[in-house]
Amino acid sequence: MADCIFCRIATGEIPATIVDQDADTLAFEDLTPQAPVHVLVIPRAHTASVRELDDSRLLAALLATGHRVAASRGLGEGGYRLVFNVGPDAGQSVFHTHLHVLGGRRMRWPPG
Ligand code: AMP
Repeated sequence: MADCIFCRIATGEIPATIVDQDADTLAFEDLTPQAPVHVLVIPRAHTASVRELDDSRLLAALLATGHRVAASRGLGEGGYRLVFNVGPDAGQSVFHTHLHVLGGRRMRWPPG
């Protein structure tokens, strides 16, 4: 989608610090990190949120990339958080499906 910022990152039109990629997914540093590690994993194909993503193979690919990023940052032992914000009440601000990979500090629960 021409007016989608994450589609434009996926095509290379907008720069991002890419940390992992495969045929279906792309992982890049969040512009405003909320933790020492804050990476976004997106599907290359556009859907507005994970609610619209009904491809279980692609969903598994997003999670696999998220786990791979966490492992590459040494988060395997201490743990990390994987978050999909779905819709405005959850705080979703970019309407292209993305998985947040957060780690490197102690997380609180419940989230604010
Ligand atoms: P959400 O609030 O779940 O929709 O998350 C959107 C995330 O995208 C936020 O954490 C933003 O900091 C991040 N973000 C927005 N624009 C960019 C960009 N151009 N490059 C990297 N991260 C971005």
